Amino acid sequence: MSVLYKEENRLNDVQQYEIVVKMLQERGVMLEDMAQITLDLQIKYLPALSFDLCLEHVKRVVMKREVQNAVLTGLELDILAEKGLLSEPLSSMLLNDYGLYGIDEILALAIVNVYGSIGFTNFGFVDKTKPGIIGKLDEAGKKPGVCNTFLDDIVGAIAAAAASSIAHRFAT
Ligand code: MG
Repeated sequence: MSVLYKEENRLNDVQQYEIVVKMLQERGVMLEDMAQITLDLQIKYLPALSFDLCLEHVKRVVMKREVQNAVLTGLELDILAEKGLLSEPLSSMLLNDYGLYGIDEILALAIVNVYGSIGFTNFGFVDKTKPGIIGKLDEAGKKPGVCNTFLDDIVGAIAAAAASSIAHRFAT
């Protein structure tokens, strides 16, 4: 029997924000890790940019419902893959981070989409260069039984979106 979606049971944005932040932490990612990537992306354009402002924009990005939904969906798939609860062929594709799968990047685009074309450019850059925590997640995901297939793209997309949010705010 399906459970009907009930509007009164829907979590508010702040409640869902707390869940998303906790979920990211449990997967080894702190908001500060993403803020550091955001700072590295934007410091060349805004030399006076502070880490705290980057963290504030990361939090602002994660407060958005579209972003929260993408995180919940992607991380759930990584976790289910690790638990062996997905069917084949999807299970092997996710556990091996199969290069032509591509849906991890597509889901991450739902995050940067909120911030326009600068978001896409920044996301492409971090996806290629894998700075900071993204490189660590990529390496950790190669170990047997660990699946970070969606997580690395989500983290890159949040950092890229925060960089775009800052770029829009300080556009001259
Ligand atoms: Mg990936």
